[in-house]
Amino acid sequence: MATTTAKITAGLKREIICDAIEFLTTRYKLNARQQRSLAALPICWKRRRAASKFYMRATRGYAGPHILLCIARGEVARWHTYHRVRAGLVTPTQGIEMPVALFAKLVLIHELTHALQHGVCDGSKRRYSEVETTRNEIAFIEQVAPVMHSRLVSIGRSARVTNGKSTKLCGDLKINGLKRSRGLMVRKLLPWLGRMARALLANR
Ligand SMILES: [Zn+2]
Repeated sequence: MATTTAKITAGLKREIICDAIEFLTTRYKLNARQQRSLAALPICWKRRRAASKFYMRATRGYAGPHILLCIARGEVARWHTYHRVRAGLVTPTQGIEMPVALFAKLVLIHELTHALQHGVCDGSKRRYSEVETTRNEIAFIEQVAPVMHSRLVSIGRSARVTNGKSTKLCGDLKINGLKRSRGLMVRKLLPWLGRMARALLANR
């Protein structure tokens, strides 16, 4: 990490923005124009423990889309992801402690993903989803801090603990298995129904 000091200087802000946009550029294959639209989004930096947010509409004195980026005071921050089964992984209950600069990059990637979902780049929208924002945060941490990534908890594994035996994968397979066995049942029943009908007609 470039720094662990509490102050987020102008230089550090540039680094945070550059790293977040570079990551999303690779992930979504953004062209230069799309990168410029993301870089042009105004960011309102706040040092406080509060929810960050992407605003599509004009508000807070901004003429249009902008990001409210809230980073807690101090040298370290605690990262908590959304709990989304389709993201596969989640931060442990107590969160993961990290330097504020890294935390700010994760929050910015999250909010810029919402910006992409709203179509700020070129009007092409993506479905609004916290699965996508969470997956992007996790993919970024995997790239830049593999040790922190290894501390994430598998949601499949925690599901196995809570409901006794089924993992996420088993759940999916179970659904397929159920569909298959229903099909099998219908296939077995049809000839039997045919025989019954013929027998009834013969007895008439
Ligand atoms: Zn979000």
